[in-house]
Amino acid sequence: MERTLAIIKPDAVQNGHSGKILDRILSEGFAVRAMKLVTLSKTEAEGFYAVHRERPFFGELTTFMSSGPCIPLVLERADAVAKWREVIGATNPADAAEGTIRKQFATSMGENAVHGSDSTENGKLESNYFFPEHVIVANS
Ligand code: GDP
Repeated sequence: MERTLAIIKPDAVQNGHSGKILDRILSEGFAVRAMKLVTLSKTEAEGFYAVHRERPFFGELTTFMSSGPCIPLVLERADAVAKWREVIGATNPADAAEGTIRKQFATSMGENAVHGSDSTENGKLESNYFFPEHVIVANS
């Protein structure tokens, strides 16, 4: 079993897609080990995306991620990182495969509905950005 961090981003929450995305998460065989609705401050969004701080879109990204409530979730299943990346699709919805969440719900490269960790190690670091380890373990 492996864990990854998903986020239903502010655009998807605002547009009323949270329920459908949660349904997809469960139907793909993920167990939810932690979940909350939270509005990030600009500083918290900057901390989460610190790896992108030199990128030209950093300001736009962190303004968007702090623009309204989002839903971080710790997901668990076999091969969780790769499977969740497959289910969400490419970063740019124009490149996202048919049937992926981003193809269905993303509106742009920036406002692309969901986040997914890109490695097991980042899945753990990112999960702990939102949830202390003992909370995740208690739900497991
Ligand atoms: P991901 O792993 O597929 O989420 O993609 P990245 O790690 O490359 O980028 C992180 C997030 O930054 C993406 O999910 C987008 O929300 C945002 N992003 C990436 N590229 C751009 C861009 O060119 N413009 C804007 N506004 N946001 C971007």
